[in-house]
Amino acid sequence: MQWSPGDRSNIEDLRGRSGFRAVPIGIGGFLLLLALSWATGTDFLSLLGTQSDPSQTAGTSGQVTATPQEERMVDFVDAVAKDAQDTWSQLLGRRYERTLIVLFRDSIDSACGFAQSATGPFYCPRDRKVYLDLGFFEELSRRFGAPGDFAQAYVVTHELGHHVQTLLGVDAQAGRGPASGAHSGSVALELQADCFAGVWGHAAQQSGRFRAGRVELEPGDAEEALRAAAAIGDDRLQKMTTGHVAPDRFTHGTSAQRVAWFNRGMQSGDPRACDTFARSTQ
Ligand SMILES: [Zn+2]
Repeated sequence: MQWSPGDRSNIEDLRGRSGFRAVPIGIGGFLLLLALSWATGTDFLSLLGTQSDPSQTAGTSGQVTATPQEERMVDFVDAVAKDAQDTWSQLLGRRYERTLIVLFRDSIDSACGFAQSATGPFYCPRDRKVYLDLGFFEELSRRFGAPGDFAQAYVVTHELGHHVQTLLGVDAQAGRGPASGAHSGSVALELQADCFAGVWGHAAQQSGRFRAGRVELEPGDAEEALRAAAAIGDDRLQKMTTGHVAPDRFTHGTSAQRVAWFNRGMQSGDPRACDTFARSTQ
């Protein structure tokens, strides 16, 4: 990907403030994490070992100490979020309202409750913000075998896809039907967010963008995102964590579905091509 650092106006940086409630985990916390694993499609029970020492994060002063690499990552997330939001503003006009990517470390008290990094990135409809611990990109690369900057951009733009759903009122549709499973509203929502990420990818692959100060994809970038989409399908994650596949517990869709819907957005560039609800009822 080609991009340039901007003014970070798409970022709310809480890296120096978060983490203060990281406490040793009891059985209640264990069960909560287990439940959240299923809800989010991210296996973080096994990530517990990578949790930082709570005593080191207690009472952080608000100052951020970060490596130059991490600071570059912040600039990257800002550039992608800006570009994706510009794209959605063009597509939706005044229906699109800009939001922020909240960066945190270890854990955060969000409007949607207390969350740990291991939960993975998430969108909170209550305050309409995206929450991200940059450490997730490391996980994506190391544990899920999906490295690369466009794989990371896919994560950011998938979460922004949930924001678009909230603005369009699509998320209300997900309340109908079963809470999980191959034909659940949750799977339809997640696949649509993948498709919306692809819609941005379509815009970002137009040539001449970088010269115009925008993000531009390079050859091979699309493959990175597809590898990421395939890596975090429900079937693949379930097999990784439990050794078998249970379709009635699907919340995000299979690897094949996630790849297919991302591709559909990427090829069409049209959010109307992302009607996962119509298709899930067929
Ligand atoms: Zn999602």
